[in-house]
Amino acid sequence: MMKTSASDHQLNRHMRTYIGRFAPSPTGPLHFGSLVAAVGSWLQARHQQGRWLLRIEDIDPPRVVQGSAEQQIATLTRFGLKADGPVQYQRQFHDRHAMALERLLALGLAYPCGCSRRDLPADGIYPGTCRNGIPDGRTGRSIRMRTDRASTIEIHDRVQGDISEHPGQRTGDFVIRRADGLIAYQLAVVVDDHASGVTEVVRGADLIGSTARQVHVYQALGWQSPDWMHLPLIVDEHGRKLSKSERDDPIETRPDGEAMRLALRALGHEPSPVRKTLSGMLDWALENWNPERIPRGPVAIGTQPGH
Ligand code: GLU
Repeated sequence: MMKTSASDHQLNRHMRTYIGRFAPSPTGPLHFGSLVAAVGSWLQARHQQGRWLLRIEDIDPPRVVQGSAEQQIATLTRFGLKADGPVQYQRQFHDRHAMALERLLALGLAYPCGCSRRDLPADGIYPGTCRNGIPDGRTGRSIRMRTDRASTIEIHDRVQGDISEHPGQRTGDFVIRRADGLIAYQLAVVVDDHASGVTEVVRGADLIGSTARQVHVYQALGWQSPDWMHLPLIVDEHGRKLSKSERDDPIETRPDGEAMRLALRALGHEPSPVRKTLSGMLDWALENWNPERIPRGPVAIGTQPGH
């Protein structure tokens, strides 16, 4: 099997081989907001003759809904979004996650923590209790990434603009291995994007608050971080985040062509009405793709047909 090494990653950068990805968690059917992220990341990759990878983030078994990965893949296929190469399943990458964790511990950039959720202050920002050793009477539960010596991260997001954020700003030292032994999203996503040579992460704006933490992990591991592009959050006509209820989801309530048109509209690329088929709409969006047209959001969509 071919492995992607750090030097391949550099080479990819040098040759400007674009590698993008879509990385859904298999916690239920694909929702409209995820379709927007999938379509946006697919267009951005295809427009640069790049590769578009699909990674199922099934790293959190308690949250995985049986059959939903297959269902999500089938929905993507129905909408004409097919991955380059085999679909990846994040659970298969445990060894490389564990190696990265060991490295961060060995570098003194991560440490065991004996606190439970109950010990956190109301603002949810971890105060660094176990940073210099676990207090007597407690045992290590989770592993946290140090943020106290980090500097502010500058993110140049292709849609959201420039963002300056300290990696500890939202959560303090953050968990990279959970108390239940599972590798946390913040570490797994970095390790896997790096291993796949991803050059740009295109995803929903609900994840923008994780980006500074992820760049911090890239830096700690000595890896070049990818470029970033956070697509607008999709809200309903009342400005609320789209409900998780399938009853209101355009993917469920509308014909595929209408759902695709809405997704492209949310991305600032609504095709002319003469484009009626799914592939006709996607082809048009690809020919006319320009990230500058993507709104920062949030973007409101009517959830009922006819809106
Ligand atoms: N698996 C994450 C989710 O579905 C997304 C990860 C990412 O795109 O960075 O919310």
